[in-house]
Amino acid sequence: MFLHRWKQEPTISTIAPTHEIEATFDCKCPEWKVLCAANRAKQLLGIDHEDGYAMVNQFKQEMETIDRNNIVLVDTEILPSDGGERFKRMFVCYERASYAFKVHCRRLLAVDGWKMNNPYNNVMLVAAALDGNNGILPVAFCEVEIEDLDSWVYFLKNINNALRLESGTGLCILADGDNDVEYAVEEYLAHATYRQCCHRIFTEMVNKFPKAVVHHLFWAACRSTSALAFFKYMELICVQSKECHDWLEKSNWKRWALFCVPEWVKCTCITLTITEKLRNYCQPYLEMNIARKFEAIARLTSELFEQRRMVVWNWNREKVPPKVRDVINDRCIDGKRLSVVQDHGTLLKVTDSLSSSYDLNMEAMTCTCGLWQISGIPCPHACIGIHYINGNVEDYVDELLSVQNFLSTYAPGMMQLPKENAWKWHSGHNLHPPMTVALQPLTLQPPNDITKLPLPTLVKRMACVL
Ligand SMILES: [Zn+2]
Repeated sequence: MFLHRWKQEPTISTIAPTHEIEATFDCKCPEWKVLCAANRAKQLLGIDHEDGYAMVNQFKQEMETIDRNNIVLVDTEILPSDGGERFKRMFVCYERASYAFKVHCRRLLAVDGWKMNNPYNNVMLVAAALDGNNGILPVAFCEVEIEDLDSWVYFLKNINNALRLESGTGLCILADGDNDVEYAVEEYLAHATYRQCCHRIFTEMVNKFPKAVVHHLFWAACRSTSALAFFKYMELICVQSKECHDWLEKSNWKRWALFCVPEWVKCTCITLTITEKLRNYCQPYLEMNIARKFEAIARLTSELFEQRRMVVWNWNREKVPPKVRDVINDRCIDGKRLSVVQDHGTLLKVTDSLSSSYDLNMEAMTCTCGLWQISGIPCPHACIGIHYINGNVEDYVDELLSVQNFLSTYAPGMMQLPKENAWKWHSGHNLHPPMTVALQPLTLQPPNDITKLPLPTLVKRMACVL
């Protein structure tokens, strides 16, 4: 019932509301309760962002206390007026997540930039990967003023350092190509492989050639795991629309065609679904102030570690996790229409009903269709070949996709960040918030204007305040 006091005057001290409470209810409210209420009121109204910047150094200290190898880098600039420090950007990488990614996960790192809904219009750069059961593993976050070449270079260089890599060696980065991310990868992580999100190419293609009936053919070309299949679909696109085909040919297709992905990546992701799923996880926290947002994301990440560390005990008799088994089951069903026609020891030849033939190398775990070596899971041709030699398909899955490796990914766990009221507060220097965006003055409206909420919701929210 006192929410309006903070709405009218966001910087109000706790004295006036304390007196009002006393006058209204004829009882004395302890100061700490009014302080908690003030925090909650500002949070509900979306006006506690300045408090968040003041807490950034404390968050860094708490992160480093729970694991001294956690990396929290805070970039600031000095204010000419009073010599104070203003927040510029912050990079956060959890030691356990970066180690799990580097040692136990497929080396595809999806990166993206999310616009924040706050008075500073900040952007959150994120990097995430997939574990052996296709679970999302958040690796690094970075809040920056704008998404541009400089911020991408800062983010990617710090990821490279956190992973202790040599110019991105052995790292495959999947991105949407916006705001010079591609240039940042090529110029500053010269040994990393850059992959372009196919959805971005698709959107551009549809905008340029809205009448071309090539959508299914485009996605079939993207997902092709061999050059033969890719060029077959490109020819079919050419039949439908030569202009569209020529544009795709000039679009640096080696960056988005799946068959061109290096085999060591062992991943068939062609769009940014990894970061989209991560955004869904983080969505409830994205409008919070910076310190609380990073605190919530750190807590979410350690909870993910704990859940997955426990779930693996349900699979202790299995060789591969459930998501991999689902893929194997589907491919074994597809393989039933195939037959082995040649047997030269570890080299087999398989044909389908269309008389296409595929060569298998059981030792090298490869098939001429390309899917086995790209995905790390036997393709339908390999499944029929493995059944033919009385083998177990699960023995031919890449080690990175095994239950044993999944166990190693999460077994060390991740320390939980203490609750804010248990932080060991130090009288360190508080940071000033960044400049608000020009022409868009700081709005004191909450993310969802609380005055427009339906009455029951409003009452429920206000009940939390006092
Ligand atoms: Zn195959």
